[in-house]
Amino acid sequence: LLEVILLGTGTSAPNLKRRSSGVCIQVDDEPFIFDLGAGTLHRMLEAGIDYKKVNRIFITHQHPDHCSDLIPFLFGTNYTLGFERKTPLSIYGPKGFKGFIKKMAALFPWITPKTYPLEIRELGKERIDQVKAVPVLHGGMQALSYRLEADGKAIVYSGDAGYCQDLIDIAQDADLLIIECSFPETMSLPKVHLNTADVGRIAKASNAKRVILTHLNPFCEGVDLVGQVCKIYSGVVEEGKDLMRIVI
Ligand SMILES: [Zn+2]
Ligand SMILES: [Zn+2]
Repeated sequence: LLEVILLGTGTSAPNLKRRSSGVCIQVDDEPFIFDLGAGTLHRMLEAGIDYKKVNRIFITHQHPDHCSDLIPFLFGTNYTLGFERKTPLSIYGPKGFKGFIKKMAALFPWITPKTYPLEIRELGKERIDQVKAVPVLHGGMQALSYRLEADGKAIVYSGDAGYCQDLIDIAQDADLLIIECSFPETMSLPKVHLNTADVGRIAKASNAKRVILTHLNPFCEGVDLVGQVCKIYSGVVEEGKDLMRIVI
């Protein structure tokens, strides 16, 4: 069984309905976490996902709305009374990620694992078991998009990205494309983020079967984002909501 749970569909703007970015993909009860932005650790608890059983976390990039809950996650893993983690934990990120985690641990020494092995790994264009990573355009940032393949299905998560061929390629024929949609069609920030027209073009070019919009800024509220995407793309489009579950 493949199930997607949206942990956070918002951005850096604090929002009670939309936490910062995070997606959980359950593959036969194993949670694969993609991004852990502010508020998503608690969304994980709301969704019934046990943080003690998370073994793999894939971070798209180092903007805080995509990774800041790594701090309470690692801290809580060390200091939950009665819990001693032994299982190895792997955290993946883009180029520069190892140095970033090292600096984080210099500021917060309490996040350094006490009882379990932690692997921090930087990814380029490569595959880790069922998960493929590819570097994508996000202003001057090192950023990754991910594709998980299991049970003959493919789920793609864009993270933050501007319009680029690498994102179209990794999303090719995806059964589900979870894609950032920072702006309505009237606004844009080329090479950094996507608006609804960009999302429509990427969804069409990649031939994705189904699209979920995420990373929604507050000024996206009340706008017919789905209608705007569907001017270009003829597949199924939905606006993501925190804690939404999609079985693939
Ligand atoms: Zn972001
Ligand atoms: Zn970003």
